[in-house]
Amino acid sequence: MARTKLIFGNWKMNNTLAQAEVFCKEAESISALAEKKGVEAGVAPTYLSLAYVASHKAGLNVYAEEVHYADHGAFTGNVSVGMVKEAGATGSLVGHSERRAYEKETDFDCNLRIKALLKAGMGAMYCVGETQKEFDQGWTKDIIESQISTGLLGVSEKDLGLVTIAYEPVWSIGTGKNASEAIAEDICGYIRSLIEKKYSEAAANKIRILYGGSVKPINIHGYLAQEDVDGALVGGASLTSDSFKELIENI
Ligand code: PEP
Repeated sequence: MARTKLIFGNWKMNNTLAQAEVFCKEAESISALAEKKGVEAGVAPTYLSLAYVASHKAGLNVYAEEVHYADHGAFTGNVSVGMVKEAGATGSLVGHSERRAYEKETDFDCNLRIKALLKAGMGAMYCVGETQKEFDQGWTKDIIESQISTGLLGVSEKDLGLVTIAYEPVWSIGTGKNASEAIAEDICGYIRSLIEKKYSEAAANKIRILYGGSVKPINIHGYLAQEDVDGALVGGASLTSDSFKELIENI
């Protein structure tokens, strides 16, 4: 089954509302370029520009960077699924390595967030990946297996249709130290095999699995040429419309 490739920008704590407005002036041309190339594109802005970007998205997918799993309540500083949905997001990233490292999010927390999103009919882009130490020890597949099995606990095959997986080796995020195309393909293929084992061949063929980690216009093509790599989750190179367009141009 042909899976449409997806280029997704994670803005992290970058791009003020004013900068997001500048980016959105080009949203239509980014979408047109994506359509010409036969790919999908999306961005995850900060909460403060989420509503603006969602209402000027011109065909781009717009996700939040994070959601809380509770509907509402005493969770100072957090934002619920209902709130990001109201702002116009159609999904959220879950379990980005920076959330895992700095906010101590566990695979169990990710599972709750994924289920809260799916319950609301929203997409979940579940980020998984090993640290440098885990990579050096040769533990990558064990780590990925446990992240996938815990993160997707209780997720039905039907709901899996709303899930995208992003394989992001922690050692390659923002470091310029790319995983090779062979590693990206090997691990994305491994994740697909886990999905097949847990669900079905049909589910494995359908789910999109992205690579993320220092993807730039100069190297994006090689990753997307891999059979099991269905796109890229991009940080630094997704922040300006020019760089975002260059990513798509180079596919
Ligand atoms: C990311 O934030 O998910 C990411 C992959 O960042 P960068 O592209 O900057 O490495």
